[in-house]
Amino acid sequence: IQSGTLPPPNHLSASFLNANFLGLGDKFSMQKAVQAIQNTDEEQRRELDELSFLEWLENNGQTKRAISRFWNSISKLALNVDCSQASAASAIFLFKKALIGNADALDVGCFTNDFTNAVSSSLRRTLAASGVDVFLSSPATSLFREAGVVTGVNTKERFHSADRVIICTPISDTARLLTGSSASMKSHEVAESLAKLGNTSQIGIHAFHEGPILPEGIPFVSCCDEPLIQMLFDRSGELDDGNRGGLPGHWICSPVSHADNYLQWDDELIRTEYQRVIDTAFPDSPALIDFHVVKINRFATSMKTGSQRLRPNPLDAGEGVILGGDWINIDWPSSLEASTRAGLVAAATYLRESGVRDFAEWNHEEKWPDWPNSAKKEDLDWRIWE
Ligand SMILES: Cc1cc2nc3c(=O)[nH]c(=O)nc-3n(C[C@H](O)[C@H](O)[C@H](O)COP(=O)(O)OP(=O)(O)OC[C@H]3O[C@@H](n4cnc5c(N)ncnc54)[C@H](O)[C@@H]3O)c2cc1C
Repeated sequence: IQSGTLPPPNHLSASFLNANFLGLGDKFSMQKAVQAIQNTDEEQRRELDELSFLEWLENNGQTKRAISRFWNSISKLALNVDCSQASAASAIFLFKKALIGNADALDVGCFTNDFTNAVSSSLRRTLAASGVDVFLSSPATSLFREAGVVTGVNTKERFHSADRVIICTPISDTARLLTGSSASMKSHEVAESLAKLGNTSQIGIHAFHEGPILPEGIPFVSCCDEPLIQMLFDRSGELDDGNRGGLPGHWICSPVSHADNYLQWDDELIRTEYQRVIDTAFPDSPALIDFHVVKINRFATSMKTGSQRLRPNPLDAGEGVILGGDWINIDWPSSLEASTRAGLVAAATYLRESGVRDFAEWNHEEKWPDWPNSAKKEDLDWRIWE
C-alpha cells in the first residue's frame, strides 16, 4: 500500500484498488469507513470511547475480511490491542492521523542503527552540556512528601531532594510511586486510573536466514490471517552497511502485538509456526540458521475501550508532581511519537508553572523551539530508505 498522486483522503485509493488481499466488496466498504472517519468531528470522536472499534467497524458496514486483513492488523500494531477491545475513539484518532491525515501519513520510519545507538550518544551529550546529572540503574522506590507536596525521590542508594518531580515511568511503576500512606486522594485516583488503563504484551521474533526472504524492494510485509506471525520486517535491509557486522545471518524481525495469548508458547513452537508461515508465503527461501524470541510482558499501554478518560493530564496527581509518560492525555497511542509529545508536554507544563511566558499557550501540535522538523519524505535532512 503506498500513496498515489490524489490528495488525502484519497491518496491511498489507487493502491487499495490494486491490492490483491482484498475483494471489491471489501474495498467499497473501506471507502465508506474512510469517509465516516473523516466526517467524525472531535466532539463525536471523544464520545466513542466506550464503544469498541469492532462495533464501530460493523456499524459502518465493514466486511469481515476488511476487518481482519486491514483494520485489525493496524489496531493490534498501533493500539496494542485487538479491535474487539480497542476504543473506537482512539482508533479513529489513529486512522485520522496515520491514514488519511496527510499524503505521507502511512509511511513507516525505521532505524538504520540500533535504537540505543541512534539516540543515546546525542541524548547524553545534550544532557551533559545542559548540566543535567543522570543516575543510571537507580530506580525510584518512593516519593517523599512534606505537607502535601512531593519534595524528593528515594532510590535504593540515596535520597534526591527536588523542587519539582516529573514522572515518566511506565504506568505500573508510576501507579506504585503515586500510592502510599502519605499520598493524597488525587494521587491515588490517578494511580487507580493508570492501573485500569493496563498493558498488553509483545513478543519480538528475531530470525536469521542464509539470505533475504522478502522480495527485492519490499521492506516489510503484513501477514494476512496469521495471528502469531503478523508482520515480517527485513531488518538487515534497514541497517546501514557498517551496522550488519556480527549478525549470524540475514535478519528478519517479526513483532507480535497484543501477544498475551502466546506468552506460554515455548520458543520451539514459535519457531515451528514462523517456519510454516515462511514456507507458505515464500517457498524455497534461504534456510533459517538462528532464531531468538524476546517476550515482553506489559509491553505497552493498550488503548482499550474507556482508555481516553483514564489517561491523566500532567498535573492531575497534584502534590506538585508533573506526569509525562506516553500514557498522559494526548490522544496519541503508546508509541515513540506519543512519548516525545508527552515529554514535551511535561516540559511545557514545568516551564508554564515556573512562569516562563513563552509556554503559556503551547500545545503539542505546535513545534517545540529548536526542535527538528518531523520526518517527511521531501525533507532532505531526513534520510529516506525505500
Ligand atoms: C521492543 C519494543 C519495540 C517498540 N517498537 C516501537 C516502534 O517500532 N514504534 C513506536 O512508535 N513505538 C515502539 N515501541 C513503544 C515505545 O518504545 C514506547 O511507547 C515509548 O518508549 C514509551 O516512552 P516513555 O518515555 O513513556 O516510556 P519508556 O520508554 O518505557 O521509558 C520509561 C523509563 O522509565 C524507567 N523506569 C521504570 N521504572 C523506573 C523507576 N522505578 N525509577 C526510575 N526509572 C524507571 C525505565 O527503565 C525506562 O527507561 C516499542 C517498545 C518496545 C518495548
